[in-house]
Amino acid sequence: MILVLENKIAQNQKDKILNYLSDQGCITREIMDAGRNVIGVIGKSNISLEEFKQMDGVADALPIKTSYKLVSRDFKSEDTKVKIGNVVVGADRIVIIAGPCAVESYDQAMTIAKEVKKYGAVLFRGGAYKPRSSPYSFQGLEEEGLKILAAVRDETGLGVVTEITSVSQADLMMKYVDVVQIGARNMQNFELLKCVGRMGKPVVLKRGLASTIQEWLMSAEYIMAEGNNDVILCERGIRTFEPYTRNTLDLSAIPVLKKLTHLPIIIDPSHATGIREKVSPMARAAIAAGADALMIEVHNNPDQALSDGPQSLYPEQFGQLTRDIYVIAPVVGKQLDFDYLKKSEIINNSQTSDSKTAAFIGEYGAYSHKASLGYFGEEIKPVPMKTFKDIFQAVQTGICQYGVVPLENSLSGSIHENFDLLQEYDLKIIGEITIRVKHALIAHENVSKKQIKKILAPPPAFSQCKNYLDQYPDIELVPVTATSSAVRQIKDSGDKTLAAIGSTMAADIFHMTVIEESIEDNPRNYTRFAIIAKEVKGNKKVNKTSIIFSTGNKPGALFEVMKVFSEYQINLVKLESRPMLGKPWEYMFYADLEADIEAPELAPVMEKLIDKSENLRILGRY
Ligand code: PEP
Ligand code: MN
Repeated sequence: MILVLENKIAQNQKDKILNYLSDQGCITREIMDAGRNVIGVIGKSNISLEEFKQMDGVADALPIKTSYKLVSRDFKSEDTKVKIGNVVVGADRIVIIAGPCAVESYDQAMTIAKEVKKYGAVLFRGGAYKPRSSPYSFQGLEEEGLKILAAVRDETGLGVVTEITSVSQADLMMKYVDVVQIGARNMQNFELLKCVGRMGKPVVLKRGLASTIQEWLMSAEYIMAEGNNDVILCERGIRTFEPYTRNTLDLSAIPVLKKLTHLPIIIDPSHATGIREKVSPMARAAIAAGADALMIEVHNNPDQALSDGPQSLYPEQFGQLTRDIYVIAPVVGKQLDFDYLKKSEIINNSQTSDSKTAAFIGEYGAYSHKASLGYFGEEIKPVPMKTFKDIFQAVQTGICQYGVVPLENSLSGSIHENFDLLQEYDLKIIGEITIRVKHALIAHENVSKKQIKKILAPPPAFSQCKNYLDQYPDIELVPVTATSSAVRQIKDSGDKTLAAIGSTMAADIFHMTVIEESIEDNPRNYTRFAIIAKEVKGNKKVNKTSIIFSTGNKPGALFEVMKVFSEYQINLVKLESRPMLGKPWEYMFYADLEADIEAPELAPVMEKLIDKSENLRILGRY
């Protein structure tokens, strides 16, 4: 059962309830979930649900109907995010774990680690104790392998994941690795499950070769019952009658698990298929189906690998796969961040925890809020602002370290105000992120479309949903500043004739109902955001430069500037003209270039640009 406590419950009242339950032999777990203080109760007490509901300080008492309890969505409705160093599994950024099946030598592990890191992996895998079908096969380097893993972490900064096959290895695992893996063959080794539950390190729990989802979740419950909440489930294929692939990848487990449990999910297409060329298609499908992470076997010399060579990708193939994932992830509201580790390092080296903030427009649940989570993950606290100018002002004055501002949308075009603010303020663009904007029509519970008289949204959202809204000419469109504000306003009004256009995230945050999903005219609706800051810290790889400049008022002046880009084969991905501040009928040009024009080898480009343009300013290199 779960007890939802009243927000204002007195501590002595809470203690009374906890003591009573403990006297009855129940196990209790207190958590905050979706803003509610909840106690999960495992075991039977003499008091009925109805009697609990009458108790002082108890707002509600609900049964958990499944046999797994702590693992269940009924107990915890919010997704669990497992933190491994600076990496978070279960949030908006896809986590890529890659490495060989087994650690074979220092050189082999280090070479592969550097390759997979280059292509976007943020955790390194490699077995030191290998559970092999044959006792005559390579069994792993054991402690020597763990030492190599620790060296890989120290050298590359990648957290390391390895399999534990016996309770006796617990101390060594505690000493050398960041994540312990329970292999498929040990999914129901209950002593081992209890052991990793007590160890307290994050655990990857692989699904057994022939285990049901129910059995798998009961195994996760064993770990959580020992007090370890950092459990990540890993689907790695199950035994079926089909012999073509090594196992059969059960991708439907992803949406099934997302409903049943709050725990994050990894897909391992390597052990699932056992065939190199089948790994990437299944990995792409897994991300499309909602997986939080991928675990991929990669080897620099698969023909000579001591285990699982035939299913290991070559590093370059792995690189092609992560590029595909980069494109697919935003379709399902996620991101693959090639700067994941570098970014964390910069943020953690340069800020104290209370200054890690990013200003965004609107309220929680805004697309800008989502963009902030997609770019920074959990490391930066998003701070809502009322206007775009407030964001620039907050960053300029140091109230917030970063700002997240939309620049353009694939359907409704540029957000001119922000181009003007970039001109006005002396701030730097330090990064960018593009997210898919999937609009929903949101209203109060049990409201039908016929009841709606007014729809609130910002003007760009109206224009992105024009075809949909044209079907309802009698509904009045009321402009507001942000989609999230629209959702909050209709909630606060309590008015059932009002609806809002916004994200499903905003609907969740404000506990409102989605009447219709994906109402934008074209599903390829993406918004690109710039991340702004006062100064650039740390060195990330530079792919793009944003500049603003003006030209003299003479024939061919803009052409002269463009000619420089043409001459040096620099691709221009955006060119926008905006009126110059305070100078009627004079224009500034804003341009994005696919190059780092401050790189030493492009010094002649800079020289020529300075010569051919006026007021040249580099807004950012990122
Ligand atoms: C592994 O990850 O190398 C492994 C042995 O996996 P599984 O337990 O899924 O077979
Ligand atoms: Mn393997």
